[in-house]
Amino acid sequence: MHIFLQFFEHVEEAVWAVEVLKTSSKPIGVTLCISPHGDMDGVPPGECAVRLVKAGADIVGINCHLDPLTCVRTVKLMKAGLDKARLKTHLMIQPLGFSLPEFPFALETRAMTRWDVQKYAREAYNVGICYIGGCCGFEAYHIRAIAEELAAERGFLPPASEKYGLWRAALEMHSKPWVRARACREYWENLLPASGRPKCPSMATPADE
Ligand SMILES: [Zn+2]
Repeated sequence: MHIFLQFFEHVEEAVWAVEVLKTSSKPIGVTLCISPHGDMDGVPPGECAVRLVKAGADIVGINCHLDPLTCVRTVKLMKAGLDKARLKTHLMIQPLGFSLPEFPFALETRAMTRWDVQKYAREAYNVGICYIGGCCGFEAYHIRAIAEELAAERGFLPPASEKYGLWRAALEMHSKPWVRARACREYWENLLPASGRPKCPSMATPADE
């Protein structure tokens, strides 16, 4: 059994937690909620990872606060720091399931699609992250999408995939021909979903613009 520590904005605090819980002699996983710019004290992600591994962490990574691809970038920087220091450990990621201007009370329109999640799972896997999950905003079907994207690597589909046909099967039987025409992976991977609501902007305005 592992002990998981998460949601640290300061690596210093995370190091203290790892040091204390290491006395349990159980494997420790620890994730920070930081951006590619580093922690709240400006410690870069690579150095954060090195400090955590030196403190005894067996798995390091990122959770919460930012979207999947930004979190993948941060873990990549952590990995680069570890490689430079010739340290090796498992990597972990649990990003948000939505993007931010509507945080926290108007997020339903910003939920990721399952196909966004499949792209994220592939990116994370390609970086060498082995513990791939989700934090706030991830629903059960998002987690299933991670398992489905990586079914070939894992050697099996998750049990929940028995309920429907991935990419094709469910749509091939659809009564409407224009829906049947969407029964391929390419259609869903290339779709840019519109927000669609009357008088809503099609794009959010980031705070720094
Ligand atoms: Zn979260």
